[in-house]
Amino acid sequence: MKKQYRARKRVPRTSGRETNGRRTRGNARFAWTGWDLLNGDVVPSLTVVLTTKGCSWARREGCTMCGYIIDSNPDAQASDIQKQFHEVIAHYGKAFKIVKIFTSGSFLDQSEVPIDVRDAILSELKGTPKVIVESRPEFVTPEICDDIFRINEHVEVAIGLETSNDCIRNNYINKGFSFRDFVRASEAAHANGFTVKAYLLLKPPFLTEREALEDALRSVRDAAPHADTISLNVCNVQKGTLVEALWKKGLYRPPWLWSAVEVLKGTHETATVICDPVGGGTRRGPHNCWRCDREVVAEIKEFSLSQNSASFTATCIDQMLWEYVLEFEEFSYGVPLVP
Ligand code: SF4
Ligand SMILES: [Zn+2]
Repeated sequence: MKKQYRARKRVPRTSGRETNGRRTRGNARFAWTGWDLLNGDVVPSLTVVLTTKGCSWARREGCTMCGYIIDSNPDAQASDIQKQFHEVIAHYGKAFKIVKIFTSGSFLDQSEVPIDVRDAILSELKGTPKVIVESRPEFVTPEICDDIFRINEHVEVAIGLETSNDCIRNNYINKGFSFRDFVRASEAAHANGFTVKAYLLLKPPFLTEREALEDALRSVRDAAPHADTISLNVCNVQKGTLVEALWKKGLYRPPWLWSAVEVLKGTHETATVICDPVGGGTRRGPHNCWRCDREVVAEIKEFSLSQNSASFTATCIDQMLWEYVLEFEEFSYGVPLVP
């Protein structure tokens, strides 16, 4: 029987992360509660976004779609990070089955989150069935996994793989690591009994709608043997990014929601694939024709909790337009045919 859940109320306008639930703004940049899948059950979750000095990769180069560095604080001290976490826990408590600790970078990068802060946070969440932390693969080493396993055994490591195609990841997204690096990180995490989530990006810049769709379908299949969950991040236009510069010139369009539906329907038998189309139905976010956006976003979110493709029942006249785009966009030399 399908579980009941409450729908998300608001989303941050420029964020690309999962945001299912209610959020408040405190000393931590954001915290919100929501619902997530845990071993097939829909359970309450808490998401905490800690403000740190920011992603070390973003400080050097950065990814073409990611604007999180704007929200970082170069002066963030260990005590600040710890204080933010404690404020959120004091407000919400710890009675959640899943707690997600996001830093807009890598929680396992000690230049961003000092080891004693990392360990203190993981230690406080010992009783939580699943603690999800995000990290680039270079910080998911056997040594670091051994260290954190001694403190908390219930960790899920979420890695922004984006695509299984090294050429797209490094040339179009500027991610700076290979698929092999991701596999190595996944093996290190799994060796300690941790679970792994892979984020995949639907529609990096410089791909047509069809190329993006095919890349996402292929990437789910390639990543599935190395990830317990796959989170399909439907690209949105974040401030201060190359994607935003292209979008302002009419050279990038966020993906159609129909493309996300197609990926989810085409891969749900291969892997557990979840999706929270942040900014869905807005100009900067994934969208269809505006008339059907709200309904399709709701169905995508429902599917993410049920994993039942029967969630997808919406139809709209603009599906013909989307199919036209899939067929003919390659002839426009990358210029989106429909805004
Ligand atoms: S997507 Fe991840 S790795 Fe890339 S700049 Fe943003 S936080 Fe850093
Ligand atoms: Zn429509």
